[in-house]
Amino acid sequence: MPPRALSLQQRPPAQGGRRVRAILQGSTRPSPLSAARASEPLTLRLPLASVGSAPPTNLLPACTRCGSLGFNLHQRDWRQIKDPQCPRVLVVRHVCKRCGRARRAYPPGVGAGRQSDGLRQLSVVLYWLGLSYLGVRAALADLGCALSCTSIRRNVADAHQATGWPPASSRLDLQPAGSGVLRGRDGLVCLRLEQTTNAARFLVVQIAPGPNAAHLRWRLHEAAGWLARAA
Ligand SMILES: [Zn+2]
Repeated sequence: MPPRALSLQQRPPAQGGRRVRAILQGSTRPSPLSAARASEPLTLRLPLASVGSAPPTNLLPACTRCGSLGFNLHQRDWRQIKDPQCPRVLVVRHVCKRCGRARRAYPPGVGAGRQSDGLRQLSVVLYWLGLSYLGVRAALADLGCALSCTSIRRNVADAHQATGWPPASSRLDLQPAGSGVLRGRDGLVCLRLEQTTNAARFLVVQIAPGPNAAHLRWRLHEAAGWLARAA
């Protein structure tokens, strides 16, 4: 496949305020010339869970030990997390006024584990796209977030156990070639992350025309369905 087949056009950022789950669209404009469309790269945008800047300030749920609703703010800490775009988040520790039990509150998109929800989703989507675990690791490093094969494998297994997705699938001949490009006998794909607002970010995938482009598109639509169900 000639290198010029991957003509990466910058897409303008989406308008803010659009529903995240509703956004999955090909950027290829409708054209009466279907033959011309088949020769253009296809762009898909998959919504990923974003990371909030601070824990929600609304009422905390009752203390799990004594049922009290009263808490004192104990401390705020910056915590390093694994996420391609957000290296640290603010975590707030509260202490129950009655029994002294402590608990932490996390920003949206982050939990007690080190990885953000968005990174977990991203690793599962890349695996489903047909990359090997080593390939997912390299693609994530390209996108700015190193993650071990062990963590990637666990993310895929956890997702499957919790949601039944992804189903078992074949690996494709696609290898990370740097800068978000995946290349192999099964096609040519370019990945990048796009943050449109604090509350919305996307994995933008461009698929170059080729014999397997329709199959890659189908895999990404399946992934988008899973992300929408998880949102
Ligand atoms: Zn308590």
